[in-house]
Amino acid sequence: MTRRPYVAGNWKMNLAASDAVRLASDVVRKTGRHRSVDIGIVPSFPFLMGIAPRLEGSPLKLGAQDLDAHEFGARTSGVNAAQIRSAGVVFTLVGHSERRAIFGDDDSACNAKVHAALNAGLEVMLCIGETEMQRDQNQTQQVIENQLTGGLKDVSDDQWEHVSLAYEPVWAIGTGRTATPDQAEQAHAWVRAWVEQRASKRVADAIRILYGGSVKPANAAELLARKGIDGALVGGASLEADSFSAIVTAAANSRS
Ligand code: PEP
Repeated sequence: MTRRPYVAGNWKMNLAASDAVRLASDVVRKTGRHRSVDIGIVPSFPFLMGIAPRLEGSPLKLGAQDLDAHEFGARTSGVNAAQIRSAGVVFTLVGHSERRAIFGDDDSACNAKVHAALNAGLEVMLCIGETEMQRDQNQTQQVIENQLTGGLKDVSDDQWEHVSLAYEPVWAIGTGRTATPDQAEQAHAWVRAWVEQRASKRVADAIRILYGGSVKPANAAELLARKGIDGALVGGASLEADSFSAIVTAAANSRS
C-alpha cells in the first residue's frame, strides 16, 4: 500500500500574529503545488482564525498544538475540541513531548484528548517517543508501546483512519541531533507492528507514521526514503517557509 506522505510544521510558542499570518501565506505559496503530500501547519491558538482563511483553496490543513479534553466548564484558558474545530482546524497534536514533560500530560490525559478530538470530528496526530535515558537503557520499544497502549485505548475500528502517529525521540527534538535513519526505521517498524496487533493489518498498512526530531532540508530526504517513514513533524525548520518547503519537496520526491 502506498501511503500519502504527510509533513506538518509545529510552530510551538513562536511568532507574533502578523508574522504567523505571513508565514502561513508564504508556506501556501511555496508548497501549494505539491498535491501528492498532505501538509499541515500548527500555529498557536490565537492565530488559528486569522490563518484559516489563508489556507482556503490550498491543500494545506490547519492543526492545533493541543486541546482541553473537557467539553465545557469553568476551565480558564482551556480550549475544547469543538471550539478548535469551529476555528477551521482539521487536526490536532496530542501528547507532544513538551506537553508531556512541561505540562504533565500522561498517557491517560492523552487518551482523553484523543477521544475528545475524534468525537468532535478532528483528526489526531499522537506524538510518542523515548527520552535519551530510556534509549540508553534499551527501553525504547517498551516506552513507545506503553504510550500507544495508553494514548490510543478504546479507539474504535472506524476511528483509526482519523489517526496518525509521530515518532519523536525526545532527545532529538530541538537539539539538532537526529535519529539515524536506521534508528528511526526500526522505531517506526515497532510502532506499525503494534498497530497491526492492536487494530489490524489493514489499519497498520494505512496509518501514517511521521518522524520528528530536528528534521531539516539536509536530512529529510534520507529519513523519508526509509521504509515506514511516511512524513515528518517539523519544529524549528517549519518557522521558515523555505526550509519547510524544502522538506515538503523531499517528501514529494520520496514517493516519485
Ligand atoms: C517538534 O517540535 O515536534 C520537533 C520535532 O521539533 P524540531 O524539529 O525543532 O526538533
